[in-house]
Order: sequence, then structure tokens, then C-alpha cells
Amino acid sequence: MKPFAFSRADSLETAVEYRQAEPNSAFVAGGTTLLDLTKLDVMRPSRVIDINALPLEGIERLGDDRLRIGALVTNAELARHPAVREDYPLLARAILAGASTQVRNMATTAGNIMQRTRCPYFRDVAAACNKRQPGSGCDAIGGINRMHAVLGGSEACVAVHPSDMCVALAAIGTTLTLHGPQGEREIDFADFHRLPGTTPHLEHMLGDDELIVAITLDPPLRPLGTAYLKLRDRASYEFALASAGAMLSLDDGMIGEARLALGGVATRPWRCHEAEALLVGRRAEEAAFTQAADAALAEAQPLSHNAFKVVLARQAIVRALRDAREGHP
Ligand code: SF4
Repeated sequence: MKPFAFSRADSLETAVEYRQAEPNSAFVAGGTTLLDLTKLDVMRPSRVIDINALPLEGIERLGDDRLRIGALVTNAELARHPAVREDYPLLARAILAGASTQVRNMATTAGNIMQRTRCPYFRDVAAACNKRQPGSGCDAIGGINRMHAVLGGSEACVAVHPSDMCVALAAIGTTLTLHGPQGEREIDFADFHRLPGTTPHLEHMLGDDELIVAITLDPPLRPLGTAYLKLRDRASYEFALASAGAMLSLDDGMIGEARLALGGVATRPWRCHEAEALLVGRRAEEAAFTQAADAALAEAQPLSHNAFKVVLARQAIVRALRDAREGHP
């Protein structure tokens, strides 16, 4: 591990100044990604800037019925907050499906959004990886790619975005508030994570001298049935092979609104707009669910070891939609 300097930021302005003065620095909050990757020599910051003293906590209902969540709210705190459990059960379920109690107690909302891929070649500095070292190649494409993406990949990178929480944020609709030298700006969560294309080392739209200060959830759907189904190799502390987050608003058995997003199969949190469009106005029954699942996976491009993910994701979608219907009040 490369030695690094350590600083504590006592204001947003100081945090930004540290970053501007030392571009190879990194912010730390919970540290659940950064410390791992620093020890593996995958991330080599010259300075680590502790942002835990910044006033980025709290969960607040806004006048327009949206919910604003501070960047430093922990995953555990978010999942157990009454407003989240009541109005955004998909978010609570997705968070609780991820990691372990200990990790959720440390990991923050912004950190979860910023977490890096779990691709084993990315985490092995002896392997070729375009994301870690641009232009070096991708050992996953011709290697062991069972855990990799079937949606959103490129010839340069097929790494999966690992977050469960982000699947829920994609389905719910979320706005990120960023802070930088020019003050605050907002960006739609759907536009935040980049597809890998030819530049997989560029993972998001955050500027080098910016940080996420809050996220704001769209107003809740009511009445609502939700389900988050995560399929994985073991029952806990494991990343998804395929996951599906579903939200359905029903009226006398007919689908009024539908939201669907996938995890474990795509290079970024994956909202399924075509599938949602197929569901709206239909009776909430098996035929509609299977057509939606087929539409969601129509563009899937499996690799040598992960064709099973297409089947698994299809089944996850159908069952999540079924569970959302059954859970509808
Ligand atoms: Fe690196 Fe992406 Fe290839 Fe994994 S899939 S080795 S992260 S370039």
C-alpha cells in the first residue's frame, strides 16, 4: 500500500480546496470501498480527505412530497427511517439485501452510489484492466466472466455495477445534488453513471473537484406494491447474479404505473423503460410480466460464461412483478 497524507475537511469549501490542490486525493466517509482498494493498491491516493465532519446528514420531507437524504446518512439509518419504510419500501428492501450489518452501519448514501465494481480483474493489479489502467486491455472478456454484465457492456469493459441501493434509486427516480467550486448543481440519477464505451475509467459525471451532498427521491407512488428480488450464490453478504426491483400502482387489477430496474446484470443501475411501457394499461397478470421481462432483456449480450444470467434475470423480473402485485394494498 502506498503511504498517503490525511486531512479532515471542516467545510464544503475546504473539502473542494483540498481536491483542487491535490487532484490525486480521495474523499473518505465510511471507507468501505476506498480502504479495501487502497490496501489492494488498486486506488493509490496521495491524500485522503475525511468528510465525516461536514453537515451532510439528515433526512427531510420537502414541501413537494419529495424526500431529501444527506450524503452522509448511513445505509443502515436510511433503511430503517420511517419515511423510507412507509413510502419507499423498495429502497429499504434493496439496502437490506446488500452487504452485511457492519458494512451498512458504515457505508453512506453517497459512498454507495460511488462504489467501484467488484470485477476480480479490476481488483488484481497483475491483470489487464481498462478501468484501472486505460488501454491495458480487459482480462474479463476472454477470461472468467460468469459475474459480468449482459447489458450495457462494450469491447473495453463488461464490469457490473455492484450496488443494490442504486437499483431502487433508478426505479424510484432520484436527483443528485453536487457541490463544487461554482456552488451546487443537480443531475438526474439516470444520467450520473456512464456506460463504459471506450472509456471505462470514466464511471460517472461527478467533476474532479465536486462531491455529492444529497440525493432527493421523487414523490412516492400511492398506492404501491413493491418487491426487490436478489438472486445470488449464497444467501447473505454476496453480490447479485441478477436482481430486480419492481413498483406497481394498480387500479382494479389494471397497471396504472410501473417501475422496473435491474442489478447484477448491467454496467450501471439499469432502468427498464421499454418493459415499463409494455406494462402500463395492462392487467397485472403473468402474460404481461413475461412480455415485460422479454423486453427488458431483448438487448442482452451474454459472454462465454454468463448466458445463465439472461434466464435468471428474466425469472427475477417475472417474480418481482408478481410479488409487487401480491403486495399491493
Ligand atoms: Fe477491467 Fe472492466 Fe475488464 Fe473488469 S470488465 S477487467 S473492470 S475492463
